Amino acid sequence: MSSVGKLVRSFVQKAQSGESSSNPPESSLYTCHDCDCVYIAIEKEICASCGIPVEQIQSTAESM
Ligand SMILES: [Zn+2]
Repeated sequence: MSSVGKLVRSFVQKAQSGESSSNPPESSLYTCHDCDCVYIAIEKEICASCGIPVEQIQSTAESM
């Protein structure tokens, strides 16, 4: 079972030492307070339904 820990550890080290500048853009969660719509997009500013600014909730990369 210890091999799993080694795999996770090596993965984290790679992620931390990785070149972030070469990574593709990460999508994020955005919510609209007016209609409670949730959008998943790389960059979202305006609600498609209401036309008001949306708020970024979190990056979807955290769930991976
Ligand atoms: Zn909306």
